[in-house]
Amino acid sequence: RIVHLNGAWVAEAEAKVSVFDRGFLFADAIYEVTAVIGGKLIDYAGHVARLKRSLDALGIPAPVSDETLLSLHREIMARNDLTEGLIYLQISRGAEDRDFLFSSDLAPTFVMFTQKKPVLGNPKWESGISVITWPEGRWVNRQIKTVQLLYSSLAKMEAKKAGADDVFLVEDGLVTEASSANAHIVTAGGVLVTRPLSNALLHGITRGSVLDLAARAGLAVEERAFSPEEAKGAAEAFITSASAFVMPVVAIDGKPVGDGRPGPVSRRLREIYIEDRLASAI
Ligand code: PLP
Repeated sequence: RIVHLNGAWVAEAEAKVSVFDRGFLFADAIYEVTAVIGGKLIDYAGHVARLKRSLDALGIPAPVSDETLLSLHREIMARNDLTEGLIYLQISRGAEDRDFLFSSDLAPTFVMFTQKKPVLGNPKWESGISVITWPEGRWVNRQIKTVQLLYSSLAKMEAKKAGADDVFLVEDGLVTEASSANAHIVTAGGVLVTRPLSNALLHGITRGSVLDLAARAGLAVEERAFSPEEAKGAAEAFITSASAFVMPVVAIDGKPVGDGRPGPVSRRLREIYIEDRLASAI
């Protein structure tokens, strides 16, 4: 792969970042992941808007203009023949001698790389995924998309150990989200229930798009937190993310959700999301 590093195009083996980088030492960095289908960027505007919110929240300056950012996305796709997969970008505060206090004039470290993978043809889609409930243990500013992903990574390893695909993280008896996706349920009455935005969860770009599309399709949407018990008794459950789109959750803690197969609302939302986002991809 050819990766982007601070304005240069570099073979991945040659792409080096300082051991004093604050992203490495303090997880002082933010990131974004954007899906690519047919050589086009899905939900790009939303990802860029959130990138800026994350940078603002940490006081890290944007390394490039909006125009340059878009042209870098196009160039990295072209240089890597990426027609379907993901573009990952990370911006850290920069490097200096290790100290909790940091200088205000650091040059950010800006990295971009691609991952080729089937996004539309995700094989999990037909079967759905299983989750286990797991205690929430991340820091309290989850609306900022930082690279502090250790807790989420360990939690997902626990899911794997238990023979499941992912976790529903639970705080004060309520589901926050999955390890790297937002969590939603559909009630027996056909209402889409999802936790409202707060610092308890990442403000997923796919979540926002799916809620808009669901409302436009005439589905009732209720933004409120739900418990693991309610999710287990729901008609359907699903997660949303840039890489999974709408992914049905068919079992929670070993118990089937609904009839244990992807339900009609999840299927419909996935279809609507893909159709609409492909039409507006850039
Ligand atoms: N929640 C968490 C913790 C995430 O890491 C992600 C994506 O990586 C999401 C939700 C979904 O966000 P998006 O739809 O913007 O990919």
